[in-house]
Amino acid sequence: MSIEVRSLHKTFGDFVALRDVSVEIGSGELVALLGPSGSGKTTLLRIIAGLEAPDPHPGTVVRVDGAALHERSAGERGVGFVFQHYALFRHMTVFDNIAFGLTVRPRAQRPSKEQIRHKVNELLQLIQLEGLAGRFPSQLSGGQRQRVALARALAIEPRILLLDEPFGALDAKVRQDLRRWLRKLHEELHVTTVLVTHDQEEALEVADRIVVMNHARVEQAGTPEEVFHHPASGFVMDFLGHVNLFHGRMEGGQSILDGAPGPDAARIYVRPFELDIHREAAETSDGGGPNTVKARVARVLAAGPAAKVELSRADGEPILVELPHTRLRELNLTVGDDVFVSLKEARIFSEDYSI
Ligand code: ADP
Ligand code: MG
Repeated sequence: MSIEVRSLHKTFGDFVALRDVSVEIGSGELVALLGPSGSGKTTLLRIIAGLEAPDPHPGTVVRVDGAALHERSAGERGVGFVFQHYALFRHMTVFDNIAFGLTVRPRAQRPSKEQIRHKVNELLQLIQLEGLAGRFPSQLSGGQRQRVALARALAIEPRILLLDEPFGALDAKVRQDLRRWLRKLHEELHVTTVLVTHDQEEALEVADRIVVMNHARVEQAGTPEEVFHHPASGFVMDFLGHVNLFHGRMEGGQSILDGAPGPDAARIYVRPFELDIHREAAETSDGGGPNTVKARVARVLAAGPAAKVELSRADGEPILVELPHTRLRELNLTVGDDVFVSLKEARIFSEDYSI
């Protein structure tokens, strides 16, 4: 089922929560709404679900599979919801929690006991909790509970699945396992899914497409590759990973780092892995030329998939560089060393932005 949102506005009193938001989600897609807290993600999700009405505005469209949700009864909407703190019914077993949406259907639409049992067992297998049907929520781990919440949402065979920070309350390691599991599940079921998250890694790893939100607006929509490698703004680039900001100017297609921020200075954004460190200026490709910055090593972090080196420029501005461990060993850096930082790649955004 496809979702179409066009020219959507939503205000709460004087406060603008969504400003002219347009989003298209194709049938069977898994799309992440990614943005900082307060950017309007949950509001957008609630409007898609029909739980909240958009402001009356000419041209506003909110359709799920071609029809406005408010034209359908709640039962026909077929929306499955999972929230960060989606409390399961504590007094019900895992089995009864998953069966809930089916058992409360009006008699004429309710499956037989046997059909419900079959469906719940199928879902238990899908969430890999076959042995735990008789447990109560208090006897499950946080990750297991969220898997049960997802099974409960899936039991009604929703046309769309809306997930609002479903893994937000879990430990880093459990989150990682669950997002891989969610991706696998999506590849089996292909239910059109909208996942709200403020975690860029989660969005990059799980989603087919990412809608980056900031201050009630959509900053950019695209595949993970597009938003990561071709960010439409400084905000998107910064939100998808740490960036170093340099000031300089463009000359003959080359970025010249001449230090001082000024009204005419370009803002040059460089990711930590797009920088290299050299002992001597002469080792840099430009021989210590305009693409090189002198800096002092402030901290070396050798743990993690890439080594991180924090440096400080003469003007006190910090620089973060990520290097392969082999490169770090070659350089043999010590805190206090004076070195040269060179650019491998850079992007220029003229506009200022704020988070
Ligand atoms: P996000 O999910 O991206 O953190 P939300 O959509 O929850 O953001 O909220 C966006 C902004 O709208 C927040 O500043 C929030 O305080 C405000 N907001 C959300 N719902 C309401 C409401 N019912 N009444 C007033 N303000 C609200
Ligand atoms: Mg939210």
